[in-house]
Amino acid sequence: MNKPIITLITASLLFLSGCSGKEENLNYKNNPEPLMKNAYIRLPLGSVKPAGWLKAQLEAQAEGLTGNIDDFWPDLVNSSWKGGTGEGWERGPYFLDGLVPLAWLLDNTRLKEKVKNWIEPVIAGSSDSGWYGPAINKDRWPLSVANKVLMQYYEATSDDRALEVLKKYFRYMHSNPPDWPDLEWRGVRAMENAVSGYWLFRQTGEPWILETIESIQGNCFDWTSYYEEFPWDSTALADHKIPTARKAGGLTAHGVNNGMAIKYPGLWYQQSGEERYKDGVFAGIQKYDLNHGQAGGRFSCDEHLSGKSPDRGTELCTVVEYMFSLEELFGIFGDNSLADRLELLTFNSLPGTTTPDMWAHQYDQQSNQVLVTVDKRAWISNSNYSNIYGLMPNYGCCLANMHQGWPKFAASLWMATNDNGLAAVAYSPSIVKAKVGKGTEVTITEVTEYPFKGDIKLKINTPGSVRFPLYLRVPGWSDPVDFNFRGRTITGIAGETVRLEEKWEDGDQITFRLPMEIRFEKRYNNSVSVLRGPLYFSLRIDKEFNSIKLNYDNFGYKGSVDWEIKPKNTWNYGLMIDNTNPYRGFKVAENPLTRYPFADKGDMIWSADSAKYIVWDEEAPVVITTRGMTITGWSLKDNSADIPPLSPVMAEGTPEVIQLVPYGSARLRITEFPVIDPSKMVDVMRPATK
Ligand SMILES: [Zn+2]
Repeated sequence: MNKPIITLITASLLFLSGCSGKEENLNYKNNPEPLMKNAYIRLPLGSVKPAGWLKAQLEAQAEGLTGNIDDFWPDLVNSSWKGGTGEGWERGPYFLDGLVPLAWLLDNTRLKEKVKNWIEPVIAGSSDSGWYGPAINKDRWPLSVANKVLMQYYEATSDDRALEVLKKYFRYMHSNPPDWPDLEWRGVRAMENAVSGYWLFRQTGEPWILETIESIQGNCFDWTSYYEEFPWDSTALADHKIPTARKAGGLTAHGVNNGMAIKYPGLWYQQSGEERYKDGVFAGIQKYDLNHGQAGGRFSCDEHLSGKSPDRGTELCTVVEYMFSLEELFGIFGDNSLADRLELLTFNSLPGTTTPDMWAHQYDQQSNQVLVTVDKRAWISNSNYSNIYGLMPNYGCCLANMHQGWPKFAASLWMATNDNGLAAVAYSPSIVKAKVGKGTEVTITEVTEYPFKGDIKLKINTPGSVRFPLYLRVPGWSDPVDFNFRGRTITGIAGETVRLEEKWEDGDQITFRLPMEIRFEKRYNNSVSVLRGPLYFSLRIDKEFNSIKLNYDNFGYKGSVDWEIKPKNTWNYGLMIDNTNPYRGFKVAENPLTRYPFADKGDMIWSADSAKYIVWDEEAPVVITTRGMTITGWSLKDNSADIPPLSPVMAEGTPEVIQLVPYGSARLRITEFPVIDPSKMVDVMRPATK
C-alpha cells in the first residue's frame, strides 16, 4: 500500500522547485524553454466557478453595472470597438476585460450574447498588417487590454479566430519599429502586452513572440530601476515633489500605472531569469507599504501616490489592477505573501468602494471616510467628485475598468501545479473542475463562508481513485492550521504551503479552520486597525443617503446611482484597548449569510448599508462590539476626518459601546483608530459582553 506523502513547503522552497524544470504538468502548459518555469499554472477560464456568497456577489455584479452599463453609457453604446462611431480608445476593452470572465464564470447566456456583439467586430477588425481595433485608434495602449480580452475569450470558447488576431498583432509589433514613448500611457504600460505575449508563446511555442516581448521590455519605461530607486517616496511627498504632470514624471507617480507595473519586472523575470527582476517586485510592494500603505492592502493614489495618512484616497482602477498583478505574480513566483495581499484587496478594498448592489462606485476610497460629498478634499490631483458613490464620479476609467476585479479573482482561486496537482491560491466558496495526474478530471468543491468564517471543507469528486498532490496555503497572518483528512491531521504554520499527496477517492474530504482571532495593526500616527482573518474592521456610522444627479441627463439612465452619504452620529472615537489584555472587551458576532434576502437581485453580501436599500442597515456578515471614547478636537479637515491624533490619546469622555463591521460593508468608516491612553482605562474598561 502506498504511503501518503505529506510535505510542508515554504514559499521560497516552492519557488526553487518551481524553477527546477524537472517536473512537467501533463495537462496544462507551463512556460516552454527557454522561459523560466513558473511556480504554478493558471487554469483556463471556466475551470473555476464561484459558489456560495462569491457566486451571489458575481450575480449582483451581473445585475448591476457590468450587466447593464453598455445599454446606456454612450461611450459603450456607441463604441467604435463594436462598430459604432463613438469612443474608440480604452473603454470598450476595459469593459470586456471584466464582462468576458463574468459571463463564463456565471455561464450567463445574456452576458455571453453581449460579449458576442462586441467580439465579432473586434475579430473582424483584424487587418492584413496585424493591427486591429477601430480605425480611429492609432494607439497601442488599448490593444494591450484587448489582447487580454481575446486571451480569455479563447480560453472560454476555443475560438481559433481570437488566437489568430493575437498572433497577427504580435507579428505586427515584431515587424514594426518599437513605439513605447515614456511620456505616453502605452510606454509606461507597454509590458502589459507581455501578459498575453507569454500566454501566446505557451499556446504556440513560436520563438519570435519572445523577440517581440524582448523588444518591448528594452524600449519602454524601466520599472525595475524605478522600484530599486523608488523616487516618489515619503520624502518626495513631504517636499511636495510627487509629480502630477506627464512631462515631470507624473505617469510614473500615477496610481493605476503603479498597480499595473508591479508585475512588469516579474513578467520579464520569466524570460530573463535574473534575480534582479524578482527582487524588484518584492522591493516595490514593500516600498508601497512603507511610503503610501493603506489599510486593506492598498497604497494611496488620488490620483498620484499620496502617502499613508488615512484621509488619502485610492482609485478603484488601482485596486483591480493591483489584484490582477498579484494573480499573475502568484502564478510566477508562488510566494504566499502575494496571495495574502490579494485576499486583503479583494475582501476589503474592492467591496468597500462600491455599493453592495454593484450599481455605484467611488473613484477614491478612504480608510477614514466620514463624509461622502461633492467637496474639495486634500487629494493630490483629483476632483471634488472623487469620493461619492456614483455612476461615473470624477472620470470614466473606473466605470469602464472596475468589472475585472471579482471575476478574475474567482477564476484565480485555484491553479495547477507542476507535479500534476492543484493549489488553493486564495480561499472562497468555489468549484474547480480540472485535470490531475495523467489526465483524470476531478472536481473539488470548496464549501466555506470565508472570509467571514474560518471553516473550510474541500470535497473531492473523481471518476476513480487518482493520485495527485493538493497544495493548501496557510495565510501569513494565521496561527497554526490543522488539516484533517482520512482520520489524520497535519499542521501547517503561517506562510507555509501544505502539500498533501494521496491516492484520492471519490468523496474524500479535507477540513480545516483558518483561525479567526482578532488582531491589531499599528498604523498612521500610532493609530490602530482591527483585523480578523483577512478582514479589516471599521466603525459603523449611522448614515444619511442623499441622491444627487450627476450623469442622468448624459446617460439617459433613470435610476438613482449617485449618492452623497453623511454621518448621522459622531465618528471621532478612539479605541479603548487594555495593553495587558488587548482582546478583553471585544465580542464577535457572526451573522448567517443566508440573511441577505434579495432573491430577485442576488444576495448582497457586503451590505451593512446598501444605498439601494438604505432602510436596511442592521446586519453585516460579522459585527464586532467593543468600547470606544470620543476624542474632543478630532474633527473634519478639508472635508475628511483629520489625521488621527498621535496615540495614546488622553481619555476625556465616557466609554461607549461601539460596533465595528467589515471595511467592505462600511460606506462611512473609521479604520485607523486613535488609542485611548491605557493608564486612564483601568476603571472604565469592562468587557463588552454582559
Ligand atoms: Zn479609474
